Amino acid sequence: MSVRKILLTGGSGFIGSNLVRHILNHSEDVVVNVDKLTYAGNSESLSDIESNPRYHFEQVDIVDSLAVANLFEKHQPDAVMHLAAESHVDRSIDGPGQFIQTNIVGTFHLLMSAKVLFESLSEDKKQLFRFHHISTDEVYGSLGMQDPAFSESTPYDPHSPYSASKAASDHLARAWVDTYQLPVLVTNCSNNYGPYQFPEKLVPVVILKAISGQSIPVYGKGENVRDWLYVEDHADALYTVLTRGAIGETYNIGGNNERSNLELVKMICNILDDEMPISKNEAIAASDHPDIKRYEDLITFVTDRPGHDLRYAIDATKIRDELGWEPKEGIEGGFRKTVRWYLKNQDWWKRILSGQYRLERQGLDA
Ligand code: NAD
Repeated sequence: MSVRKILLTGGSGFIGSNLVRHILNHSEDVVVNVDKLTYAGNSESLSDIESNPRYHFEQVDIVDSLAVANLFEKHQPDAVMHLAAESHVDRSIDGPGQFIQTNIVGTFHLLMSAKVLFESLSEDKKQLFRFHHISTDEVYGSLGMQDPAFSESTPYDPHSPYSASKAASDHLARAWVDTYQLPVLVTNCSNNYGPYQFPEKLVPVVILKAISGQSIPVYGKGENVRDWLYVEDHADALYTVLTRGAIGETYNIGGNNERSNLELVKMICNILDDEMPISKNEAIAASDHPDIKRYEDLITFVTDRPGHDLRYAIDATKIRDELGWEPKEGIEGGFRKTVRWYLKNQDWWKRILSGQYRLERQGLDA
């Protein structure tokens, strides 16, 4: 298979940065990372590969149609992997406007520019071209505890501004196959965890609150169930779909690891009890909770999020049977690796918590 030039949006975010690294490490492909660098984008997540000659960066807002058109004209990619999005459900409840702009309008601009490029290609290049739209299992809505897991034919039923905007973008991507024969692939994945996740999401929040001796907030009674997938497994699945998926198809990607939020938080706390015993953690003695015996003593239940879906679960049979992909990382091992990563890479998240990572790129000192 020939070498591809992949235009990858959102490469400075959590999944994007892991995917850029995966592609550079596992193929000869060239990656053009297109990222606006919003609060969630962090170029420091790619500092180890930024001098790789197969890596290029373009700071572009995908809502800017002219800038997107110029990007396609300049780089003439063989494939697009579209991850750029506003991705935090709580932020979508507080301010849905940017979610509509980036997730729906931005996806529309990318599809339009991809269509223009695709139509200009030779027949050989058309055979290779792909537009891979990366989405979430949240578009399918909420399951009861006994319901079968989401399959690719589960009707869409989104409940938050985030999932509704992602659902809209999935529909746009599929319409471009039927209407314009653009070779689109769609994937819907469950909750990811692993290195470089922005410290506003559940897993890093739990780790960072725990090690600093702060209360660990859990919504409601912690009964909501999610399926968890190690981010490196997601990156592997995405590259598998890009290179071997059938045009026009959707593939669900999941870890086969359903846990309630409370089970998950307790698991992380138990790992921390091993990896950073409370007796050796000086921050605990100086915190508001100096007498705790185990990290799970810090768990505090807080008012539930409105429209909080009870359960998500993924049936990933199709990608296993048709493309031979299965997750490699078990949940215990994956979470242990993740906890160790956050303990070892304190500079990365401390610079985010202090705001330094954004001030420096604006040319200011904190
Ligand atoms: P993230 O919030 O960590 O990263 C998003 C990236 O997109 C950031 O680098 C940000 O700067 C960039 N971006 C945002 N708006 C932009 C714009 N207008 N123009 C250009 N770049 C912009 O998100 P993530 O968790 O890495 O998720 C990546 C994708 O995967 C999203 O599409 C999300 O819906 C999907 N997804 C995420 C999960 C998960 O568990 N995190 C699960 C399934 C699917």
